[in-house]
Amino acid sequence: MIISVASGKGGTGKTTIAVNLALSVQPSVYIDCDVEEPNGHILLKPTISSQKDVAKKFPKVNLNKCTFCGKCSELCEFNAIVVLKTDVMILEELCHGCGVCSYFCPEHAIEEIEKNTGVIRKGTVSSKAVTFIEGVLNIGETHGAQLIRHVRKEIIPGQINIIDAPPGTSCSMVASVKDSDFCILVTESTPFGLNDLKLAIQVVRSLGIPFGIIINKYDEKYLDLDKYCCDDKTPILLKIPFDRKIAEYYSQGTPVVFVMPQWKELFRQVFTNIKSIIQNHEIIVDERL
Ligand code: SF4
Ligand code: SF4
Repeated sequence: MIISVASGKGGTGKTTIAVNLALSVQPSVYIDCDVEEPNGHILLKPTISSQKDVAKKFPKVNLNKCTFCGKCSELCEFNAIVVLKTDVMILEELCHGCGVCSYFCPEHAIEEIEKNTGVIRKGTVSSKAVTFIEGVLNIGETHGAQLIRHVRKEIIPGQINIIDAPPGTSCSMVASVKDSDFCILVTESTPFGLNDLKLAIQVVRSLGIPFGIIINKYDEKYLDLDKYCCDDKTPILLKIPFDRKIAEYYSQGTPVVFVMPQWKELFRQVFTNIKSIIQNHEIIVDERL
């Protein structure tokens, strides 16, 4: 089973939810796909047992073969290759390493070279009941999606895999949540939270993934969010009120389920609800076939 935890915006407590869920439904696999800023390790404090480099493909032009026809530039949908009269420039920040330019170059003037983009680290959390996996993007690298695709190859079939996705609705978020059995969208009780939640809902809906909401720092005076979820028939899985104690434990790097056992029960209940939503979703999809 793959459960991804995403949020329309940063700072909603997405990692806290992913970590506490992984600790509540052990044995589980926690996978940090927030490769630009992975911080699940701060809470889980895993013992790392292996680390491997991940390379991305990158085009290199042989100017001795190039006729400066401009075809590669025309075909690059990311505007990452610029053909001048006597030179070809690759804009590294824009290049997604898709290989289209080298495939279609009529002179075979472009070869794909490998460039180190980040690492994947694996380990276990002290109880050994949680497997820890994270991707860490190299400083200066701007595209996490390729690394995320490599990280996702580490998903362990037959186990409960909890994916901590990057915030926002970028291609990195899509690469992280794609093919999940369920997506938890974490939001907070503010107009900004609601606005970004709507965008995140659009993305997971377009991917056909069943989803539910966890509202962090729930404010019962802000009713727009509840009303939206009710009108949209979006299930609210959990409301976590602002609690100074929880915030203090978080700032000390302590998962709340370690010190407040009642939260472990609540996260287990969330997991039970998720399983029944997935089952109902499968029945609906079957009936449509
Ligand atoms: S398609 Fe090939 S030959 Fe044409 S400009 Fe690009 S690298 Fe040069
Ligand atoms: S590899 Fe893809 S993204 Fe990069 S320059 Fe070539 S066509 Fe553009």
